[in-house]
Amino acid sequence: MNNIRNFAIIAHIDHGKSTLADRLLEITGVIKAGNHEAQFLDRNPISRERGITIKLAPVRMLYRNHKSQITNHKENSNPQNSKQIENLKFEIENSDSEYILNLIDTPGHVDFSYEVDRTLACVEGVILLVDATQGVQAQTIANAYKAIDKNLVIIPAVNKIDMPGAEIEKTKKQLGEFLGISASEIYQVSAKTGENVEELLRVVIEKVPPPKNPNDQVPISNKILNSNNQNLKHPETSVRSLIFDSYYDQHRGVIAFVRVFDGEIKKGIRVKLAHTEKIFEVLEVGSFNPDLRPEEKLNDGEIGYVVTNLKDIHQVQVGDSIINEKGAIPLPGYKKVKPMVFASMFTTDTNDYLHLKKALGKLYLNDSSLQFNGIYSRALGAGFRVGFLGLLHADVVRERLEREFGLSLVLTPPQVEFKLEDKKYFEPYVKVLIVTPNQYLGNIMQLCENYRAKFLTMDNKSQISIVYEMPMSEMISDFYDNLKSVSSGYASLDWEFLRYQPVEADKLMILLNMEPVDEFSEVVVKQRAMMKGQMITKKLREIIPRQQYEVKIQAQFKGKIIASERISPFRKDVLIKSGKVIGAGDVGRKRKLLEKQKEGKKKMKMVGKVEIPKEAFFKLFRRS
Ligand code: GDP
Ligand code: MG
Repeated sequence: MNNIRNFAIIAHIDHGKSTLADRLLEITGVIKAGNHEAQFLDRNPISRERGITIKLAPVRMLYRNHKSQITNHKENSNPQNSKQIENLKFEIENSDSEYILNLIDTPGHVDFSYEVDRTLACVEGVILLVDATQGVQAQTIANAYKAIDKNLVIIPAVNKIDMPGAEIEKTKKQLGEFLGISASEIYQVSAKTGENVEELLRVVIEKVPPPKNPNDQVPISNKILNSNNQNLKHPETSVRSLIFDSYYDQHRGVIAFVRVFDGEIKKGIRVKLAHTEKIFEVLEVGSFNPDLRPEEKLNDGEIGYVVTNLKDIHQVQVGDSIINEKGAIPLPGYKKVKPMVFASMFTTDTNDYLHLKKALGKLYLNDSSLQFNGIYSRALGAGFRVGFLGLLHADVVRERLEREFGLSLVLTPPQVEFKLEDKKYFEPYVKVLIVTPNQYLGNIMQLCENYRAKFLTMDNKSQISIVYEMPMSEMISDFYDNLKSVSSGYASLDWEFLRYQPVEADKLMILLNMEPVDEFSEVVVKQRAMMKGQMITKKLREIIPRQQYEVKIQAQFKGKIIASERISPFRKDVLIKSGKVIGAGDVGRKRKLLEKQKEGKKKMKMVGKVEIPKEAFFKLFRRS
């Protein structure tokens, strides 16, 4: 156990986590330099193309230490671990030993922050990486706080020092200020060229404590529990491990990625999932090398996988604990992840409905946060109401459906869900953290005011971090785009769900010739009703073609018409062309024209009595 190090890399998106992981994998011989694609751990094709890590990826590495290579590093400022580290350093410097390093690369995007949270519950230390061309950004701070909360050893490093625009000293200063340490304690690396990376790996071995100190009789899990409950003692024989990820394998069922905190897990034992209470027999356990390699067992302190043979990934939830069949105390921190934004999804060709259903079912097998229910639209046919973690998640799912399943989709803009209780509406609020260089502060505060945001706190250093609370519906509108534009791209944002709050809201109904059209209607707050109503009616006027009768487009809120537009009638008789009636003799041509009109009609959708081309829906739903 003394030779195990469990650690993660955390950073703001694009600061180089996956690239650093590549170098670490090469140094430890897991993969060969020049023989793999960049960001090796991003094996999901969409991860790869978008350059973001969607799923976290664990990997096990072996590192052989040679006495002669040891260099002395500056002391870690974390006093709680210093004695342990002293002992460890002695040991490292005096042995030719081999280390098992379990690295978990984490997703950097905020939609997946719960995964980062659960990852950090599985490790003893983190490398906190900051891009020297960007400086400290929102997820640098949000993720670092998560690590600090969990008492993890933090190894701060400035990355991309090879870049011409790298502001190494400035970035070190910022990071030092934030962590309360001196700039000289911050490492500097280039994940790209590999400069100082091996050095950094050695620092990990030196400073990150092993999963359990043999001199320390209290299991590390108890230490973690101590802060919550002093009384949680349990028998030595108990098994407890935390699930930090899972995926569905067609042949073997759900494979859970776990960190063992107590006891050991081996093939054949019967265990239970603490929160979903599902009991199963362990089919296989193993480690990540980087592919799955079966092992005899997973010991206390180790990270690996467990083949559950369960068929439903929604029973094997991230954050749940695998415990003895007879029950032990689950590890703390479990939370059921709920979708936060919702969109209606239809196929452009209604015949593809079953295809979409199947495709969503397939994605659902492997995405425990995806939710969907059947809905029906008069205009667009059968479809689904789909729930996502956030806008990026929605985008990734749509892209996978279109690309991997060849579907052509219509998606309404993702919206939050308002809760309706006793005829009162409640809307989700989020806490947002914005990090920005000083000179944009004024712009940003102005901007936040326009989005119903309430100022909470500000931390005024060389980078400013400001915390606001705001309705989630505002945050997912064009807030982020505007934040970027008022800060010349420099400000960054992180968010977390806060609570539901009562709000004056109601359904904004869109009427076409007095008939309500559900597809265009949505719940909006009072302050936004007028603006939204005007926007939608105007846009509809532009995209609905003239009909043979007048079309009235109205927006109704709380029983009142608050916006309206009209489209004047237009006689469209295909039998009259450039003023000349096609003669009775020209039967063939006449039929052809009528058929053409019929064909055109197929593309039109009757909404009440009004014909709307399907494209109008697509245009309306497209984000402008
Ligand atoms: P992640 O989102 O934190 O996983 O970031 P990635 O590892 O995907 O890196 C984001 C981008 O930065 C990629 O284009 C990398 O090639 C690039 N990058 C990462 N580290 C370095 C570095 O040290 N130097 C340079 N020049 N580019 C880097
Ligand atoms: Mg990545």
